Amino acid sequence: MHPLYIQNSLSRKKELFEPLNAPHVGMYVCGPTVYSNVHLGNVRTFLSFDVIYRYLEFIGYKVRYVRNITDVGHLVGDADEGEDKIGKIARLQKIEPMEVVQKYTNDFHDVMRVFNILSPSIEPTATGHIIEQISSIEKIMENGYAYEVNGSVYFSVRKFSEDYPYGELSGRKIDELMNNTRDLDGQSEKQDPLDFALWKKADDSHLMRWPSPWGIGFPGWHLECSVMSTKYLGEEFDIHGGGMDLKFPHHECEIAQNIGANKTPNPVKYWIHGNMLTVNGRKMAKSEGNGFTPEELITGNHKLLERGYSPMTVRFFMLMGHYASTLDFSNDALQAAEKGLTKLNNAVEALGKLQGASEDNNDIDIKALSDKCFAAMNDDFNTPILIASLFDGVKTINSAADGRIELGEGQIEDLKKLYSGFMIDVLGLVSEGSERAEGSEDLSSNLLDLLVELRADAKEKKDWSSADRIRNTLSEMGITIKDSKEGSSWSHE
Ligand code: AMP
Ligand code: ZN
Repeated sequence: MHPLYIQNSLSRKKELFEPLNAPHVGMYVCGPTVYSNVHLGNVRTFLSFDVIYRYLEFIGYKVRYVRNITDVGHLVGDADEGEDKIGKIARLQKIEPMEVVQKYTNDFHDVMRVFNILSPSIEPTATGHIIEQISSIEKIMENGYAYEVNGSVYFSVRKFSEDYPYGELSGRKIDELMNNTRDLDGQSEKQDPLDFALWKKADDSHLMRWPSPWGIGFPGWHLECSVMSTKYLGEEFDIHGGGMDLKFPHHECEIAQNIGANKTPNPVKYWIHGNMLTVNGRKMAKSEGNGFTPEELITGNHKLLERGYSPMTVRFFMLMGHYASTLDFSNDALQAAEKGLTKLNNAVEALGKLQGASEDNNDIDIKALSDKCFAAMNDDFNTPILIASLFDGVKTINSAADGRIELGEGQIEDLKKLYSGFMIDVLGLVSEGSERAEGSEDLSSNLLDLLVELRADAKEKKDWSSADRIRNTLSEMGITIKDSKEGSSWSHE
């Protein structure tokens, strides 16, 4: 097995990856809250973890990948007071909360498919685990880290921090937090402003509600991830991921809950945080109004977009950045990605046609290239370095295709294995499927219509040479122009 190093957000160090129970790996990633269409920023986070998942499997681990769907408990404003994000849409549209959930879960799945992001092994929902959440709250209460007030239950951060550290992941000091957090209106039933809800009493207007030992209510947002990760991966597991913006309070609260319920001081061995997709330096977010949907991206139908880009171009653009760095969206960067990907794809196509010699070319070292590719990914999943290495190999392939050098049969086979392994299995860059084909069919038929019009214009101006040139060129491509009283049209021969 290759030595893999992962930047652990908890220790802030690059650490050798040693799973608790190799070759098995447990990985939990916070999934979407399904109350709106997915934007491209969300896609980036799920894509980053898709490549991590793919690479772990590629080097031989058997990964149980759990990525949840948040369908209750995430309140507007991300705090403990206010309306449920999903409940609010349901109220405004006069539909069932579960209709909202279904609609946006379908959208999320469609988008994941378009970008070739693999499904997780388990995709649990918060509403499907209410019983487990209630019993977890009971355990936390028994351990003395939670209290009930008026039908709601809160986690006591102060009590917890007497026994365990709180704030390590996000680097916050509890005393500073206590001093800096003012008591906002409506939070008065908490003993401390830092405390967070495990269970909230549902008032009459609240649509999603369940019976509990504390009355009718609903679970707090952070609890589902603690409960579902423990249920499917155990009290201690290998990797927990999510977007950087979830570090505090969400992941900090998750850690406290896991420890508070199970008394396991290190519930997660490696924390991995994906960085944000930005637009002009600002996080892409629904609330910023700078988020576009994947559909807008593909069609180009958005003010930030000069034109449309294919899903694989976008995937490649994102992988040209390291997951832990911010990535700024721009048309220039997408166009550069498009060119780069075409160059790679052309080289892979040329590779497929290469005829090998019986002897290896001793000037070319395919093993060294392969080692570089693995070394890049083993260094905290460094996809930009991997891509740079794949481009190094393109020079060799193109030289062989041009006849400037000759490669041995075995070397060609090794290159094929390397490129299909890293490009398809690890980076997930597949040749564009039906979306691209449909799009390019539209494009070529529009172009043909345009050429037919240009020929008609030329004829009207008695520019016979241009008119003939258009007809002859199209004829060479297998397209016939027919002239009739109604005008001209084209067809495939
Ligand atoms: P949400 O549905 O808001 O809970 O977000 C789902 C996931 O998308 C979370 O892991 C967020 O961290 C992530 N996310 C949200 N905005 C961005 C962004 N601009 N760039 C990258 N990831 C994001
Ligand atoms: Zn979560």
